Amino acid sequence: MKRSIERIFQRPAQPGMVGDGFRVFNMIPGKGISQKRMSPFLLLDFNAAFDFGPSDHIRGVDVHPHKGFETVTIAYKGSVAHHDSSGNSGIIRPGDVQWMTAGAGILHKEYHEEEFSKKGGLFEMVQLWVNLPAKDKSTPAHYQGITADQMGKVVLPDAGGVVNVIAGKFQDTTGPASTYTPINLFDIKLEEQHETSFMVSQNHNIGMLVVNGEVVVNGEVAGEHSFVLFDHDGEEISIRANKNAVLLVLSGEPIDEPIASYGPFVMNTQAEIYQAFEDFQAGKFGVLE
Ligand code: MN
Repeated sequence: MKRSIERIFQRPAQPGMVGDGFRVFNMIPGKGISQKRMSPFLLLDFNAAFDFGPSDHIRGVDVHPHKGFETVTIAYKGSVAHHDSSGNSGIIRPGDVQWMTAGAGILHKEYHEEEFSKKGGLFEMVQLWVNLPAKDKSTPAHYQGITADQMGKVVLPDAGGVVNVIAGKFQDTTGPASTYTPINLFDIKLEEQHETSFMVSQNHNIGMLVVNGEVVVNGEVAGEHSFVLFDHDGEEISIRANKNAVLLVLSGEPIDEPIASYGPFVMNTQAEIYQAFEDFQAGKFGVLE
């Protein structure tokens, strides 16, 4: 049975800036999509394709902490560099995904990769925040740097497109990301007039961002930059592209625990938030210039 669509959200009228390098439409949480409703997904920031222009000044977001969840950065166009308090650094290039488990706490910086910054050009990316169950919130911080060639790949028939399976399972293909709770994350490229379909467990919360193009999904038209929120009444998602489309599908089993969230800290109780803030102030997240 096909899943009904609960609602299709248009992107907010205005983007917000994260530092000076990320011009994002905040799709989750939003009016009608709470963190509880989309659990385990806490946040979805969408930097729709935007050309910041060539710059000698490297744009980005300066040192900040994270604790109690994971940040997942999906680069479509342009490259993001990062640097953290445990001495890790790296570059997320188009097609790559960085899955960072902040867990017990980390400090990092995220910015445009230097060469890209100098040249300019379209920058297009998504950052997702994925909650951790209480028992895993204090796991030491670590990364999965997943490059484009490591993704699970499903080539659609008749040159209809390709699905990069980042996490979970699309039809019979699994993705490389290891997750703490059951999650699917699919990067779908669907050519005009082609279609595909897949099944997702009925208990998962599921949403789909139309990064580019326009599709008909389970009978309803979803335009560019919209976010489709599905109900829980079925398992099948069926998509047909009206125009060449790039779609990000996220689904996950809800974590049935209280959410206490304050900026970059996501815990279960207010007391844990105060503790996280104190630990951060006391320098327990490490040091980063
Ligand atoms: Mn960050």
